[in-house]
Amino acid sequence: MVLNIIEINNLYKRYGNTIALNGINLSIAGGQIYGILGPNGSGKTTLLKIIAGILPASSGDIMVDEISVSRNADNIKSMIGYIPETPALYESLTPIEYFNFLASVFKIDDNILRDRVNAFSNALEIGKYLDEFIGSLSFGTKQKVAIIGSLIHDPKIIVMDEGMNGLDPKSSKIIKELLKDMTKKGKTVIFSTHIMEIAENVCDTISILYNGNIAGTGNLDQLKNEAGSSNNDLEGIFLKLTGDEDLDNLLDSLRESIKSTTPP
Ligand code: ADP
Ligand code: MG
Repeated sequence: MVLNIIEINNLYKRYGNTIALNGINLSIAGGQIYGILGPNGSGKTTLLKIIAGILPASSGDIMVDEISVSRNADNIKSMIGYIPETPALYESLTPIEYFNFLASVFKIDDNILRDRVNAFSNALEIGKYLDEFIGSLSFGTKQKVAIIGSLIHDPKIIVMDEGMNGLDPKSSKIIKELLKDMTKKGKTVIFSTHIMEIAENVCDTISILYNGNIAGTGNLDQLKNEAGSSNNDLEGIFLKLTGDEDLDNLLDSLRESIKSTTPP
């Protein structure tokens, strides 16, 4: 029997009158890169924050490795590395100082910390920035620092909100390879994006989130079948699965995704 690392049951989130998640059910098998794809406002960030134990659900529950998130948020935090959409890093620290700070929070031994920082900063090619102020680093380098920070306690699950946005092609390729390596070691990566090309290139399984509902789940072939689409690209599948009720919104978001994936 394959144990799902994450089980989401009938999950609702309301902000006042806004229903951000409208009864989500998802089973996520471990050891893969799992993508949550949806336009802006579809509920991706809300879903990822609830999975990471940062935001309470209105109702329903999430089990992470058979532990209920709502009842054990603290245990969950040590299992999950969360990379927010806009990481809030301490600009006046250097990456090394930041990693030391995290190591003290997670009680990581000095030698283990040094090995992990060396391995990750080599893999992400940021060794030469480790003693510079974070505030002086480029967007891509900051993002890499945030990623290393989220991996420093060796979490089983990596939750990344819009992780590849705005990265140069080389950085995003390096990060993609790192995430793939992690899944080979049995880790699970959950990844949100509104950019189809990223979902298509990076994810083993994709769930399409639309207006707080899951419109379809599977690999590209399964989604294609579900959409009854002979069309090979995710964009066509996305449009079929979500229907055309809100086409203007959807097209705006597609245009934005095309803008952000096309080099200037
Ligand atoms: P996404 O990440 O897909 O853009 P979000 O999860 O950020 O979607 O938002 C889903 C919906 O919930 C949107 O309608 C958004 O306006 C609303 N929302 C998100 N956060 C809040 C909040 N703190 N207060 C009120 N409404 C919110
Ligand atoms: Mg978001």
